[in-house]
Amino acid sequence: MTMCPYCDKVYDESEYSECPYCSGELEEEHGERYFKNCHNCGGVMYWNGSWECANCGEEINTGIDDNDGTIE
Ligand SMILES: [Zn+2]
Ligand SMILES: [Zn+2]
Repeated sequence: MTMCPYCDKVYDESEYSECPYCSGELEEEHGERYFKNCHNCGGVMYWNGSWECANCGEEINTGIDDNDGTIE
């Protein structure tokens, strides 16, 4: 998997020669969101340019690759 330097979305470079989100091949909203478990409160963090906890407001400045899975 590769993270696009322009939109920070992750895609499979064996399937796409260029970022499918930037090229418009894939829609941004496809029913799945990455999530991460908050180390501070155990709540759920969502990716919004950085990781933000929906519960306690904790922020983590890693990358979208640093997720614990996807939620449908
Ligand atoms: Zn992109
Ligand atoms: Zn939290």
